[in-house]
Amino acid sequence: MSTLFRHIPPVDQALSALCAADSAGAEVFSAAPRPLVKDLVNGFLDLLREEIRAGAVTEAGQLDLATLAPRMAAYVRQGLRPRFRRVLNATGVVVHTNMGRSLLAREAVEAVASAAAHYSNLEFDLATGLRGSRYSHVEELLCRLTGAEAALVVNNNAAAVLIVLDTLCKGREVVVSRGQLVEIGGSFRIPEVMARSGAILREVGATNRTHLRDYEAAIGPDTAALMKVHTSNYRMTGFVKETPLPELAALAERHGLPVIEDLGSGSLLRFDGHGLPGEPTAAEAIAQGADVVTFSGDKVLGGPQAGIIVGRREIVERIKKNQLNRALRIDKLTLAALEATLRLYLDPEQARKRVPTLAMMTRPLVPLRAQASRLAGLLRRSLADSLDIAVRAGASRVGGGAFPEADLPTALVCLKPLDMTVDALREALLATDPPLVGRVEDDAFCLDPRTLDSSEHPLVLAALRQALGRA
Ligand SMILES: *Cc1c(COP(=O)(O)O)cnc(C)c1O
Repeated sequence: MSTLFRHIPPVDQALSALCAADSAGAEVFSAAPRPLVKDLVNGFLDLLREEIRAGAVTEAGQLDLATLAPRMAAYVRQGLRPRFRRVLNATGVVVHTNMGRSLLAREAVEAVASAAAHYSNLEFDLATGLRGSRYSHVEELLCRLTGAEAALVVNNNAAAVLIVLDTLCKGREVVVSRGQLVEIGGSFRIPEVMARSGAILREVGATNRTHLRDYEAAIGPDTAALMKVHTSNYRMTGFVKETPLPELAALAERHGLPVIEDLGSGSLLRFDGHGLPGEPTAAEAIAQGADVVTFSGDKVLGGPQAGIIVGRREIVERIKKNQLNRALRIDKLTLAALEATLRLYLDPEQARKRVPTLAMMTRPLVPLRAQASRLAGLLRRSLADSLDIAVRAGASRVGGGAFPEADLPTALVCLKPLDMTVDALREALLATDPPLVGRVEDDAFCLDPRTLDSSEHPLVLAALRQALGRA
């Protein structure tokens, strides 16, 4: 074994061999940062030492540079890839929080590129030549789309809830129904955000039912607001009752208190005609008497990550002046993307077509079936001897905590590998370039065309070829 260690090539020789490995590779490696390539080669040589110790390398011939070069090139190429990368989302979950939620409309992508490359009137008033406000670019649009008097945008919806509570309720009580103390994904929990803001949570009602009289009984001299939280990611059924917003708003008005509504995904359009009933729009919340409404920019709205706050002018102006606003403010790229996205909503039919999240959510079954069979055909032409390929009916999800119970009918391309387990295929696909993420159902690896663009089909094929070891 100890003699084998002496056959490990020196790092300089390994480096030269790497650049000679193949002409395309040589180009990649000589353009890459030198110190990083050298570290990676050292890492590869360490790997060889481990393999010798583990008994996986037994002959000096295995350590020949000519033999090692292709493996070393693959190792270094992998190490050079950026960490934050594109993936192919074949899960059918449209607003997938782990994969970046919403894709931006082409118009929004162009607005981001322009704001990134050029100076802009971000905080410069072109009418006066004086300092302006970054919010002015989207405030009018948001008011027009929601019917609110004023609007403000912060970093995300969690920040929106935080700053609203901090502004209106610090050190005082906020009355919330027990059934609405929700946790959203990783770390957003209403009671904890409230504690952070310094507001005091006053829970009322029972888990399943909260009546108007429960709110009324809780109102006292320390009450700062009544709050309603959209139970985004779950549904209660059976013997349940939520107090309707108009009743809550009337009660609040009698006591001179504001009503805050955290809408969560907060859509600007209704989707009842697309088998997606029930989610209230921001305009409805305002019309029904909410004084401040918060929602996400990158959930069902289909824009960039942002927290949108709309409501009564006097309240929004107070929020704008809160010092926290400086820490939570959105940047110019987000603002550019948000304005371009909101502009598409000025014509709802345009929005449904051009905002990718909306287009994917509302895609009918017929084109989904056609896309599934095209994808299946493409895969069959080159991979029929290593995969069993079938198209069958399935369901996609909106995701992002919106419409949690709605199954959107779709057609799935289901793959059963002939020479490996489904789980091994799933795992191998996480290491392809780009990685392909699908879902395992009924012992098959399933691809949902709802979240795949047809132009991505060749990439899906390439990923499968790599995963099946046929690149
Ligand atoms: C998603 C959600 C949030 C958090 O929004 P982010 O934009 O992810 O910060 C807050 N409240 C509700 C009800 C939500 O659904």
